[in-house]
Amino acid sequence: MARQKKMRIQDVCGLLNQLYPPFLAEDWDHVGLQAGDPLAEVSRVLICLDVEEKTVAAAVEEKAQLIIAHHPLIFRPLTRITPQDETGRTLFAALRQGVAIFCAHTNLDRASNGLNDWLATRLGMVNSLPLEHSAGQLLKLVVFVPQGHEEQVAAALFDAGAGHIGHYDHCAFHSSGTGQFRPGAATNPFIGQPGVDEKIAEIRLETIIPAALAARVVQKMCKAHPYEEVAFDLYPLANQRQDLGLGRIGFLPAPLAAGDFFTQVKQQLALDHLRVAGPQNRLIHKVAVCGGSGVVLMSEALRQGADCLVTGDVKYHDAQRARSEGLTLIDAGHFATEILMVHPLTQVLTRAADERQWPVEFIPNKGEQDSFSWI
Ligand SMILES: [Zn+2]
Repeated sequence: MARQKKMRIQDVCGLLNQLYPPFLAEDWDHVGLQAGDPLAEVSRVLICLDVEEKTVAAAVEEKAQLIIAHHPLIFRPLTRITPQDETGRTLFAALRQGVAIFCAHTNLDRASNGLNDWLATRLGMVNSLPLEHSAGQLLKLVVFVPQGHEEQVAAALFDAGAGHIGHYDHCAFHSSGTGQFRPGAATNPFIGQPGVDEKIAEIRLETIIPAALAARVVQKMCKAHPYEEVAFDLYPLANQRQDLGLGRIGFLPAPLAAGDFFTQVKQQLALDHLRVAGPQNRLIHKVAVCGGSGVVLMSEALRQGADCLVTGDVKYHDAQRARSEGLTLIDAGHFATEILMVHPLTQVLTRAADERQWPVEFIPNKGEQDSFSWI
């Protein structure tokens, strides 16, 4: 019988960083592994919105060695770790019980197939794109590959995060030509001989990469490339990646009366109440969403002609502005617009682990509750 592959915390962290790259997180945010040993073994992972002392107890109950949370446990610098406050108690329990803690926060918000895509889908929106493109600085990468080796180099590029355009991935362009070089005296060329001019059929392979991934992509590309000296160019681009950024904006399949849309939002987010500002007697077709505290995107939603913005943490003056600008503003609460990340994230990670034949199970945390209730 084949021995069961052993996975480590760092393998799961690597997968999360690939799906939800840390470069997408806000500068003020703290994402990634916050507590635990990256080399410890992992077979079960608990997924939640918030990590508290009781979440660690739930992880122990589920025999999980890792918790993946949306909200960071450690947010401000800690001056002590004692059981006198919730963060200290949670860290104490986690480290004592051998449970690691990983956070995917604003990187999960901005990523493609991340929290805001899940919120948009849940509310019935189609063809949604980021409301704000803040993370999409792009580079064009051109590399010259001897004919016959272009597929392996392209695969390495895509695996490292190159080639995403909108809802398409594995995007590249191949053109053929002739490469010319003369290997130096101290070289060990893949093709040709030192000191002799060489001409060879090469493919010019070009693709697009997020600027923040350049170093990693180039490293993986050079590893997959047969030449000892790889000829490549990086060009800065004026266009930006369209599938990364905060919030989402899209359309309902058909315009809905605002009252019907409110009902739909309540049903989909399992809410009894919504707070609504702005016009209520209108049709809603173009909808903007942002999970958590997304009212900062109100100007962008207005600029792009949204009928409605669905978010949480709306304040009095935001509501006033929505009314005066004619935007229907729905405050569905911070919790309800984010707790929905638990199941899709569990599914995405389960699928990714299956594809890699990793013996790791992902389990959604049950029973998380909003700190607010309606009286
Ligand atoms: Zn949040």
